[in-house]
Amino acid sequence: MLLTCVVDAVRMAAEDAAPFEACGLITADGFLVKCVNVAKDRARQFRISPDEFKLAGRRRKIVGVYHSHVNGGAYVSVHDRDGMSFEGLYVVASVMDGVGREVKVWNFKDGKFTPVTVPGRQTANGKQD
Ligand SMILES: [Zn+2]
Repeated sequence: MLLTCVVDAVRMAAEDAAPFEACGLITADGFLVKCVNVAKDRARQFRISPDEFKLAGRRRKIVGVYHSHVNGGAYVSVHDRDGMSFEGLYVVASVMDGVGREVKVWNFKDGKFTPVTVPGRQTANGKQD
């Protein structure tokens, strides 16, 4: 899977969903499955319905989850941490004033988020290009 392509696709999905948080799943072959954000406060949180998750999993192998932060940074929030039960890639995109900015990737396993470097996207000072 080309992680760089996934990151670009998540950034675009994040822009499409603004001013609400985008959310969806990442398949093993590198596609995004856009999901409905069923959180009560869609501008500040995301929630994927278990039914939608199951349905996508029947069609494709799911290896990750993505969502966006509207006018917030690309980080794992306390809410995100509490809501995470799926082990795999965790991609968060920052959208500022409707424009997709930084996208960060973690690997979530055994309750821990480990940062994943995206090839060709990190500059020497650690900033996203
Ligand atoms: Zn979040």
